[in-house]
Amino acid sequence: MPLVISPRSLEFAQTLVRMNTVSAHSNLELIDFAREHLGTLGVRSRITYNKDRTKANLFATLGEGKPAGVIVSGHTDTVPWDGQAWSVDPLSAVVQDWPQDNDDAEAARTEPRLYGRGSADMKSFIAIALANAERFVESDSPFAVHFAFSYDEEVGCFGVRELIADMKEQDIRPLACIIGEPTSMIPAIAHKGVYRYRCCVRGKEAHSSLTPQSVNAIEMAARVVGKVRDMAEAFERSEPRYEGFDVPFSTASVGQFHGGIADNVVPRDAEFRYEFRNLPTSDVQKMQREVTAYAGRTEEAMKKVAPEAGFRFETICEVPSFLSSDSEPVTRLAQRLAGESRTTLVAFGTEAGIFKGAGIPTVVCGPGSIEQAHQPDEFVSLDQLARCEAFLQGLARTRDIR
Ligand SMILES: [Zn+2]
Repeated sequence: MPLVISPRSLEFAQTLVRMNTVSAHSNLELIDFAREHLGTLGVRSRITYNKDRTKANLFATLGEGKPAGVIVSGHTDTVPWDGQAWSVDPLSAVVQDWPQDNDDAEAARTEPRLYGRGSADMKSFIAIALANAERFVESDSPFAVHFAFSYDEEVGCFGVRELIADMKEQDIRPLACIIGEPTSMIPAIAHKGVYRYRCCVRGKEAHSSLTPQSVNAIEMAARVVGKVRDMAEAFERSEPRYEGFDVPFSTASVGQFHGGIADNVVPRDAEFRYEFRNLPTSDVQKMQREVTAYAGRTEEAMKKVAPEAGFRFETICEVPSFLSSDSEPVTRLAQRLAGESRTTLVAFGTEAGIFKGAGIPTVVCGPGSIEQAHQPDEFVSLDQLARCEAFLQGLARTRDIR
């Protein structure tokens, strides 16, 4: 018999999708909903806020008094939908068959889907965990289960660091972590890192007829941009391959460039942003040092003309790569719960490297596909939701998680 999502889990998923928790907004509506629901089951939530208390993480232990067990983890924020062509309201959380206009002969191939921003990435996972919270509370498993719901994942995995710091302060030492990012319920054991930087270039302005008295910020910036490009080509040419990724080597890319005010003014200021997506086996700090060292050498000549000229680098975000293995107990647990013998590598960044870096073995496994995430008409199939529910209900019954 095919798995079916429970009406309550589906209703919770729709409720969460209808809340606007785009990263630029507050997520407190969702956090309050989760906290209140857990409160009715006698579960206390630990809330850690951002600086201006507009966003929060929630951490809750289901089965208090038992030794720490598995973390069920998800981010509450979503990407925006500005400028995207949606055929439904991104906050509508409608359930529709696909394809919509089916004659009877084809009806067997119709797939019911939940549409809306965050339906796949990744509110449904959080919703199904919440809707099944009672099972974790009443479980006779010797281990507790923890819910960890973070803010600001989509803009650089900022919230989860506070959550993990608080967990450490409370001396809670979970055995493992399952992150429900959309992997079509196939356990994922690796992803690349995502490191973004801003480079601000200060030159010296002058009338463009007097270039020897000036330092051209755009031209100096372009040299460093060229360096980033050279490095990208070197990765492609000679970095040891890590097969399984869509692109089996590290990549580097300049995403934004700004500078200049007029054709006849040597520009004083320029700014660009770039990123590295490093293989788990490559040292991203070394990559960034290569860029700053190159800029440092370029700067020497600039300072001879104008001592105030130079480069300033800022880190925008650092999402560490993630590398686990097929033999890690939490990978095998996820495989058992998902009824899945495969594992996969994913192209997107998650909080997994941060949890693993905190000493917590981690796997990424959740409903829906990353191909729908961040897209117009984001959806998750009800079949995927049903599989996710079976996975989490299986976790509530699991007695041996190591
Ligand atoms: Zn996500």
